[in-house]
Amino acid sequence: MPFYRLKTGIVHMRGTNLPKPCAARVQIDGSEQVCGAWSAFLCDGRAEGRSTCDAPLCEAHARQIGPDRHLCPPCHLQHRDADPQRGLFTSLV
Ligand SMILES: [Zn+2]
Ligand SMILES: [Zn+2]
Repeated sequence: MPFYRLKTGIVHMRGTNLPKPCAARVQIDGSEQVCGAWSAFLCDGRAEGRSTCDAPLCEAHARQIGPDRHLCPPCHLQHRDADPQRGLFTSLV
């Protein structure tokens, strides 16, 4: 049973087939916390050791990169940086 961060505060939802809370990191009152908003998307980014990142994302944090393709903020940064400078990342593996 997940917790969501809604406008009213942290809410504990009961039920099945609920979307996961958004996994993006946000700054709240000067400390880093998970967003926790109701998620509408899953990250399609590549992840080490898994096929996709699959981070749940709310509408505010999903970065659309194509039809039905979304990235979480960290994957979007990598995606943006990796394209013009692919060599930087392959040398780290
Ligand atoms: Zn979010
Ligand atoms: Zn991701």
